[in-house]
Amino acid sequence: MKEAYLYKKLASTRVRCNLCSHRCAIEPGDKGICGVRKNVGGTLYSLVYDKVISENVDPIEKKPLFHFLPGTMSLSIATPGCNFKCFFCQNWQISQMPCDYEIIDGREIPPQKIVKDAEAHGCLSISYTYTEPTIFFELALDTSVIARSRKIKNVFVTNGFMTPECLEMIKDYLDAANVDLKSFSESFYRERAGGKLKPVLDNIKIMHELGIWIEVTTLLIPGLNDSTEELGEIASFLSGISPGIPWHISAYFPQYKSDIAPTSAGSITKAMEIGKKAGLKYVYGGNIRIPSCENTYCSRCGKLIMSRSGFSVAENNMDRGCCSGCGTELDGVFS
Ligand code: SF4
Repeated sequence: MKEAYLYKKLASTRVRCNLCSHRCAIEPGDKGICGVRKNVGGTLYSLVYDKVISENVDPIEKKPLFHFLPGTMSLSIATPGCNFKCFFCQNWQISQMPCDYEIIDGREIPPQKIVKDAEAHGCLSISYTYTEPTIFFELALDTSVIARSRKIKNVFVTNGFMTPECLEMIKDYLDAANVDLKSFSESFYRERAGGKLKPVLDNIKIMHELGIWIEVTTLLIPGLNDSTEELGEIASFLSGISPGIPWHISAYFPQYKSDIAPTSAGSITKAMEIGKKAGLKYVYGGNIRIPSCENTYCSRCGKLIMSRSGFSVAENNMDRGCCSGCGTELDGVFS
């Protein structure tokens, strides 16, 4: 156990966790909504600092990040737990483990060792991913600080539900994030994910303003978040922040408590068109086989800049971050 960051002691040994936007008030002996932060006698502890459940070397494209050090590998870690309860969660076995099974499994891999593992595998970044990095923030931040000192970049793959204080604490060490924007509806967030939309929208803006490279993913679930109107709202929101924010529209498959039929290729293609019409320069389809839907094209001359196959870059026509045809600079982090 490690004493938690970002909490406040209240009267009668209660505490308030200020790590994510739930801001749980936790009675002595109780845990927060995520099930991995516990009030022990008026002190809040993280129960997952020494519980790494997954450690893999992944292509950065798998996060997905297509405009951040493309073609490189990222050491990817997670602990159990999540602050959301998405009924369609694609990683529910580990994200919901603490709440559904009251188990917090994993092994101790200290921050220094995680960074060493990244170096040993030639990874240019460490991704805090698979579950929600906000709920293992102490491990993520401590690791990020060491990684930065070793010139390794840090990436969050996140639901974007952290507090502004949490972002403030990690901002100097966080290089990139893929933020899940699940819907543009408060009721979807409340009823289907156990969260709220507004903090996510605010954090996407804040991260962009802080200079953290962001890409956004929407898992397209038939009948729930795939209307033309809602997709248009998401695309306009992102385009309003910056047309250079890549938008990944990912196909859903039934998982966890959901039995809705999988997303069709036609639905992904329609969503991609909506994104492009809203002015987004880079719109991708994912988790489905559609020819060219993962390719990057120059937003000015249309030249193929990068073609991707699976999670690898098959062809790269970029010249020092620019289109090799017309010289237009690509949005992203390429060195
Ligand atoms: S991280 Fe979020 S869900 Fe977990 S205890 Fe803190 S405020 Fe509650």
